[in-house]
Amino acid sequence: MPIDFEKITSLAKRRGFFFQGSEIYGGLNGTWDYGPLGVELLKNVKQAWWRAMVQMRDDIVGVDSAILLNPEVWRASGHLENFTDPLVDCKECKMRWRADHLEGDRCPNCGGELTEPRQFNLMFKTFVGPVEGDAAVVYLRPETAQGIFVDFKAIQGMTRKRLPFGIAQQGKSFRNEISPGNSIFRSREFEQMECEYFVRPEQAELAYRSWVLERYNWYLSLGMKPESLRLREHEQSELSHYSAGTTDVEFLYPWGWGELEGIANRTDFDLRRHSEFSGKDLSYVDETTSEKSYPYVIEPAAGATRSALAFMCDAYDEAVVNGEQRTFLRLHKSLAPYKVAVLPLSKKENLSAVARQVEKSLRPHFMITYDETQSIGKRYARQDEIGTPYCVTVDFDSLEDHAVTIRERDSMAQERVPIAELVPALREKLED
Ligand code: ATP
Repeated sequence: MPIDFEKITSLAKRRGFFFQGSEIYGGLNGTWDYGPLGVELLKNVKQAWWRAMVQMRDDIVGVDSAILLNPEVWRASGHLENFTDPLVDCKECKMRWRADHLEGDRCPNCGGELTEPRQFNLMFKTFVGPVEGDAAVVYLRPETAQGIFVDFKAIQGMTRKRLPFGIAQQGKSFRNEISPGNSIFRSREFEQMECEYFVRPEQAELAYRSWVLERYNWYLSLGMKPESLRLREHEQSELSHYSAGTTDVEFLYPWGWGELEGIANRTDFDLRRHSEFSGKDLSYVDETTSEKSYPYVIEPAAGATRSALAFMCDAYDEAVVNGEQRTFLRLHKSLAPYKVAVLPLSKKENLSAVARQVEKSLRPHFMITYDETQSIGKRYARQDEIGTPYCVTVDFDSLEDHAVTIRERDSMAQERVPIAELVPALREKLED
């Protein structure tokens, strides 16, 4: 049964994962703030991606390019001309819609007649320097990819990487979406995780197919359920202006299937265009034949914020425990905001002192939290709801046997461990 999305967004707000940006001023549509648990989840998603894409591979290096780029970049990339969505207005209630997201030809709000679609550019415009005018116009990047293409030649020279090799980047992107919605699924400011993988043209098709599988498997490796994921190849008519083939990894959101990541064969479009527009030769020189050519590019482009939402939706679970309805966030250990919660059985001073000692000994090793308010059952429930995989309970026996109980979130199994062996015991469980 699909879960009620309202339950996810209310949990997200109540516990501090994400909530409406600028809320005290009535919010700003399409912007979201990530609270204490949300920043941890998001960082963990990005770290897992960086590890898989950069740190565990010899053929991909990282970059962090500027968000503001020379406006010529967007002329060369085709964004000024093509990065548009079809916009329609309702003639009755004046609401605006993205035409390709509508099912019928009437306004979904009031049933009114709609205008003819017109193309609306999604890039946010701003100005550099103190003078506002055409010469000072710049755009907030709508994707991280172009920062990679403009640095391609420099990075290849610095690293002396040979084909095939990739450049990866994570960071904020901005799109003036016509209808942002479903909370952080579609926002106007969001984070992306993109890799441009450069290959010889004759290897492009194979590399494209293998990246599709590689990226699909990455989600599975972080605990996503196979039935929540599917691959969807784009029809010819759907392809972007640069693409020779695109496959989306789709996720089953509470409202239905939707994009999580797109893997595209961008051909040599970007490097050619940037060479042409910048006047700089961005071709690649073959190490043995010294022949020059433009590599093809395979691009796995994921959303970090959208992935965080998908992982939360997939991990959300409800179960009856001791006759009580309870919520669990069964997040993969590496994604969970807190790895361990330290809980003294009671607030009594002698127990708190030991628990604080335990907390101090764990803090340098794991992201932990400490909680001594309310009953132990309530505290376990609070940790289950935010996905903490392990709770460490300090009880009155701990004062005598210098041991504590580790409780695991999903099985609720409990194990007694000497305090002196707690760090290696938890490390083993967390790395398992
Ligand atoms: P859509 O069709 O949903 O508008 P897209 O095909 O334009 O998305 P891409 O340009 O392929 O998206 O961007 C790559 C990834 O960046 C997407 O798969 C998604 O995870 C993320 N992304 C794109 N737009 C947004 C947004 N407005 N809010 C949050 N994440 C986004």
